[in-house]
Amino acid sequence: MLADPATFRCRCCGACCRVPGYVALVPGETETIAAFLGLDVYAFTESYTRLTWNRRDLSLTEREDGACIFLLPDNTCRIQPVKPAQCRGFPFLWRTPALLKACEGLRDTPARN
Ligand code: SF4
Ligand code: SF4
Repeated sequence: MLADPATFRCRCCGACCRVPGYVALVPGETETIAAFLGLDVYAFTESYTRLTWNRRDLSLTEREDGACIFLLPDNTCRIQPVKPAQCRGFPFLWRTPALLKACEGLRDTPARN
């Protein structure tokens, strides 16, 4: 049974930010994150994004080890106030079996009745 969202507390383990794959940007997020970083949209997309499988949408880039480019050494997010909807949706709007096991917050949170 999944944890109760009302009592879930993120443990900042960074597991969800280390999974290789797309961190897709929805309309508006490119401009918002660029502004947060003090960059224009072109500079931001050049430095921090790549195309997704459909060659049309954008994803944040990842480091060689598969971690998100914005994951900091202390497991916090460099763009926390404006992080993409995909990030805010984990683990209750989307999840994978592997991530469910890896998420320390889920392990420590009581299940919903
Ligand atoms: S944007 Fe932030 S929360 Fe989202 S994957 Fe990257 S480091 Fe994690
Ligand atoms: S895997 Fe879970 S506990 Fe770890 S940073 Fe992500 S949401 Fe927080």
